[in-house]
Amino acid sequence: RIPPSLPTEEELRGRVEAAARACGVDLEGHAGPREGRSPVTGTVVSSLAWTAADEVPRAVERAREAFLDWRVVPAPVRGALVKRWAELLTEHKEDLATLVTVEAGKVTSEALGEVQEMIDVCDFAVGLSRQLYGRTMPSERPGHRLSETWHPLGVVGVVSAFNFPVAVWSWNTAVALVCGDLVVWKPSERTPLCALAADALLGRAVREAGHPEALSQVLLGGPEVGEALAADRGVALLSATGSTRMGRSVGPVVAGRLGRSLLELGGNNAAVVAPSADLDLAVRGIVFAAAGTAGQRCTTMRRVIAHRDVVDELTERLVAAYRSLSVGDPSREGTLVGPLLDARSAEAFRVAVDRAVADGGELLVGSERVLEEEAPEAFYVRPAVVRMPAQTEVVHTETFAPLLYVMTYDTLEEAVAMNNAVPQGLSSSIFTRDQAEAELFCSAEGSDCGIVNVNIGTSGAEIGGAFGGEKDTGGGRESGSDAWKAYMRRSTTTVNYSGELPLAQGVTFEV
Ligand code: NAD
Repeated sequence: RIPPSLPTEEELRGRVEAAARACGVDLEGHAGPREGRSPVTGTVVSSLAWTAADEVPRAVERAREAFLDWRVVPAPVRGALVKRWAELLTEHKEDLATLVTVEAGKVTSEALGEVQEMIDVCDFAVGLSRQLYGRTMPSERPGHRLSETWHPLGVVGVVSAFNFPVAVWSWNTAVALVCGDLVVWKPSERTPLCALAADALLGRAVREAGHPEALSQVLLGGPEVGEALAADRGVALLSATGSTRMGRSVGPVVAGRLGRSLLELGGNNAAVVAPSADLDLAVRGIVFAAAGTAGQRCTTMRRVIAHRDVVDELTERLVAAYRSLSVGDPSREGTLVGPLLDARSAEAFRVAVDRAVADGGELLVGSERVLEEEAPEAFYVRPAVVRMPAQTEVVHTETFAPLLYVMTYDTLEEAVAMNNAVPQGLSSSIFTRDQAEAELFCSAEGSDCGIVNVNIGTSGAEIGGAFGGEKDTGGGRESGSDAWKAYMRRSTTTVNYSGELPLAQGVTFEV
């Protein structure tokens, strides 16, 4: 039995059904045998039908047919659709956030923030729809014009992870739509209602504008549906977000058919804390990045590399801050740390803490499971800090839970080397008031990550920049800057208006 500290199964079901219906989901139409559980209580909140993997080619074919019309719709008209979608997201921000909280376990303000990110990326895409610029290059031949044009690519397959159940899809979809592409989405099997609701809002905007319904399709299902998308030659770009294990599986399949993939995989993000750091700011930045979202962000901070002169004070302050963290019902005001996804996540957390201690680490705070009696099927843990003698093997691994390792350094070169020593390369940060140190960390001989921050934690990126990372993180870039180029094909055009036929590089070929 679940006492009042957590919602009851009926309450949760009521909340998700009301929110999904408000977004336009036909729950009866999607009913089926696949039960979905909420990490908040561990109880069932949905019973839905999944798509069989052998239905994937038909969905891709539908999208390919619709592409023939969509690719010639002017980009600003495509942008107008995304603008309307953003209005609907704004109207239903709280409904979608409710679903994110119930299915992914995010605390309310982070769930609202996730939906805000969708609205932000739509704004970005609307502007982009009038700025899909190609270049004009000087031709080496007289009477010639050399230029490039960006054209729609085709069908984009999106595979997404449970921890950003709606934002990651929208980063892909808002940009793909203005680029003239269509999307077939395989969301995480853990967050099907989030997917149906987000897709229903886009579907409404599509219908209102009279565009083809196949612009966006959602296929509920497990990894086998993602595998089928990866293998389908009709999918021009596969954008897959999830674990490095998943990326290692789908990457070669897409490459084997010479398709394009955009991989957004695991991270193992560190903050360097230099002797000159503002420790108040560093502590706040570290605690949000390391314990927020219960450590279940790809950009979660998993390592602190602190200078010998500040490591003791920093650790002491971190421990005090960790002791004050409220763990519990993510929809309750004041809760900062919600549940882990499931029993497997909790077990991985426990095993990693044990390993770190076996490697000589000192567990300073946290790691206990809480609310176990109230909700035996839900997995709430107290975020943990372990002081490590070195970056042992367990520190090189992404454990998707609130587990922070603290290490010590003496020289900045050593700190940078430790930052870069792990297989992943997503996000990184340095806390320092020394400009030269900050610049070095951001330079070519500094952090090797896709995201490099100064005096900010590793998580919480804005949509205006390109998001993604190197090495085992997969190398993909999504969202802002020129990430849109991955969703288009480039044609280089040379026009000869000279009436002569001079060949490039001065080659002569007289016939
Ligand atoms: P996961 O890899 O278990 O699943 C992600 C998605 O891939 C799901 O939709 C799943 O069904 C699908 N999938 C799994 N195996 C597959 C396969 N062999 N073929 C095709 N599809 C497959 O990840 P998760 O537990 O949902 O999410 C957590 C992971 O995602 C963490 O590693 C986290 O760092 C990563 N992540 C990365 C980013 C990023 O932008 N870099 C963002 C969010 C999450």
